[in-house]
Amino acid sequence: MQKIMIDLDETICSPTYLEEVNKYMKMDYQYTDIDTYFVEDIIPPLEREKFLDYFYENANVYDHAYVFPEAIEVIRDLCQVYDVYIVSAFVDKRRPKESSIMAKYKYEWILKNMPFIDPKKIILTGSKHMIMCDIKIDDKVGNLKGYGETKLLLDHMHNRKYSFEELESLGIKRVHDWRQIRDILLGSEEV
Ligand SMILES: [Mg+2]
Repeated sequence: MQKIMIDLDETICSPTYLEEVNKYMKMDYQYTDIDTYFVEDIIPPLEREKFLDYFYENANVYDHAYVFPEAIEVIRDLCQVYDVYIVSAFVDKRRPKESSIMAKYKYEWILKNMPFIDPKKIILTGSKHMIMCDIKIDDKVGNLKGYGETKLLLDHMHNRKYSFEELESLGIKRVHDWRQIRDILLGSEEV
């Protein structure tokens, strides 16, 4: 059975980081305003430290996370054919101690929303690159480098700077939604 490693944030669901930034800054930023990987990079550096204090004390961005259409249904179907692992990074190097709470939030969200995933196949880490698998699905190009013969990149504003040619040279295919992932991994679309 081929092993698949599936990222959580911005791949399966979108946690409410931006809503927390907006609440804290009293702003109304949209995802289209942000082309960096961490949404809080939109906050000026001095304010950002205070935001992180507030964030780790007060916010659970998984309470109202948005689930991408068909993500959970497709993953359930993938489990019939593949050995599926949900792999998510939780370590915030700026706040190693405080970020431990993110492991709990992520684990609880996966248990609740994907009860068909064996809890032992939930991998919360800071070192995704160490994991060997056949297929990777992620929204971050850096996480798709290394092991794997099929690498699918979920299209997002923050990864549009990578051209088709650049991705091709890394063996990465850009995909636009979970329906397309279903077609590639369970149907007939060529990788
Ligand atoms: Mg991600």
